[in-house]
Amino acid sequence: MKRIGIIGGTFNPLHNGHLFIAEEIRFAFNLSKVIFVPNKIPPHKNEIIENTDHRWNMLNLGISSNQFFESSRIELDRTRISYSVDTIRYFYNIYQNNPLFFITGLDALLNYSWHNFEEIIELVENFIAVSRPGYSGKRFQDKIKKLYPLCLNKIIQFDILLLEISSTNIRERLYKGKSIKYLVPESIEKYILDNRLYLDKR
Ligand code: ATP
Ligand code: MG
Repeated sequence: MKRIGIIGGTFNPLHNGHLFIAEEIRFAFNLSKVIFVPNKIPPHKNEIIENTDHRWNMLNLGISSNQFFESSRIELDRTRISYSVDTIRYFYNIYQNNPLFFITGLDALLNYSWHNFEEIIELVENFIAVSRPGYSGKRFQDKIKKLYPLCLNKIIQFDILLLEISSTNIRERLYKGKSIKYLVPESIEKYILDNRLYLDKR
């Protein structure tokens, strides 16, 4: 039996925070692999998103050094913006009886308006929400309880080393001409500089 991790995001760009949480959860939950699923521009994001091809290329550069990491174009290749529930249903049908572990930051669990959250919960073995600066500690357990009282058996709030890295911060640093060395894999840093990405104010 395979235990499959799925992590969605805009990955605009992928950074070491994403890679770190995916690897940490893979190890902690004994996952056979983690699939990174970049999304189309989701409704809650209002910044201009770099070209889909660039996000896809950077993601693949970033995950290439980990044999347990894969990527999927399932959301990018759909004509419409799709919901996480559609993606999870797709992997549920592909992987049949192999359990799925959906990985997000706790900020995402609490702040996104999840479409059909109950169905997501039905399809996954666990919904793992990892801590993030500003989103860690016991008080968030109450918030989860209030928001999703019927889903508590599957939601795991998982404390992880807090890394204050975000794509927003990386884009800002680039706009200001600052270095992003050691915040993203070297291959992504090079790709961004070669393609002159994120130089405009958003
Ligand atoms: P942005 O600033 O553009 O929102 P981001 O850094 O939050 O970018 P996303 O692509 O939105 O990156 O994140 C994908 C998933 O990874 C989300 O579930 C998010 O909560 C999680 N995540 C991103 N960065 C971290 C981090 N440093 N620690 C823990 N979780 C993270
Ligand atoms: Mg985010």
